[in-house]
Amino acid sequence: MNLLDGKATAAQMKQEIAQSVLEIKNSGKRTPHLAAILVGNDGASETYVNSKEKDCHEVGMSSTVLRFPETITEAELLQEVVKINNNKDIDGLIVQLPLPKHINEQKIIETINPDKDVDGFHPLNVGHMVTGLPTYVSATPDGIMELLARYKVETAGKHCVVIGRSNIVGRPMSNLLSQKANPGDCTVTICHSRTKDLKAFCLQADIIIAALGKAEFLTADMVREGAVVVDVGITRVPAQNKSGFKLLGDVKFDEVAPKCSYITPVPGGVGPMTRVSLLKNTLKAARGLR
Ligand code: NAP
Repeated sequence: MNLLDGKATAAQMKQEIAQSVLEIKNSGKRTPHLAAILVGNDGASETYVNSKEKDCHEVGMSSTVLRFPETITEAELLQEVVKINNNKDIDGLIVQLPLPKHINEQKIIETINPDKDVDGFHPLNVGHMVTGLPTYVSATPDGIMELLARYKVETAGKHCVVIGRSNIVGRPMSNLLSQKANPGDCTVTICHSRTKDLKAFCLQADIIIAALGKAEFLTADMVREGAVVVDVGITRVPAQNKSGFKLLGDVKFDEVAPKCSYITPVPGGVGPMTRVSLLKNTLKAARGLR
């Protein structure tokens, strides 16, 4: 069994990105700059935005976090997005989701300038991804593709089962893996909560992407010998430690890992790759390479 080490790979990628940022600065150009909009004071959102800010600083990028109260109106938030769209000093903009219920998330996403949409959620960027045009691929699928590429995991002609069909993970994953590319060229089956006999599909899979958000759902009896397993899930469960919780993936790692040719751990697998992909997209934005 080989570990697909997202933590080490992301650290390596951060060094590469930091070098590129330095080159941009040394050439006299402006420092790449990511802006994040955070509405309200949800603890998890606050943590995510703080870590994105920290990542930017680690690679020498500028970052700005714009914080707004829960009570901000949709019209006011739209205006803030437009302000950033028009700000020539900012390359990338992310709006931390979820937004309060009175704000239409889709409307906000569609107002972001697609050139600055480093989360890759704007329909134009999704469309570009689906048709294989230059785009910002959203961070989690992009991170997984990068991990597969860097470990030279063979995907051509393989049967990949993606569990989960969300717009941010399952659906783009199924799309990217079926594209005529490397990694790619997979025969993809996409499963969800209405799939009948999920186990039978999993047992046919050379590659399983588990992205359903159910702790330790994928067990050894669902995985065939030599499979590649990518565990996207993150579920917080209570634990007797300092923080009072631990993170579990969608895969029962201890029993599944011995059967796998490659597997990602949780934590230290897809999570760090997701974070570094946002930096990669911001660098792309700064270079005007979407
Ligand atoms: P989501 O929007 O809740 O989607 C979950 C998907 O799983 C849905 O398509 C759902 O089917 C399907 N599903 C649920 N229960 C199932 C079951 N018993 N059998 C088969 N399919 C089932 O979640 P998400 O945003 O894609 O995230 C998935 C997990 O990945 C979560 O744990 C999340 O925290 C984690 N995540 C991790 C990262 C990272 O950086 N590591 C990034 C993003 C997300 P229906 O469509 O039929 O409801």
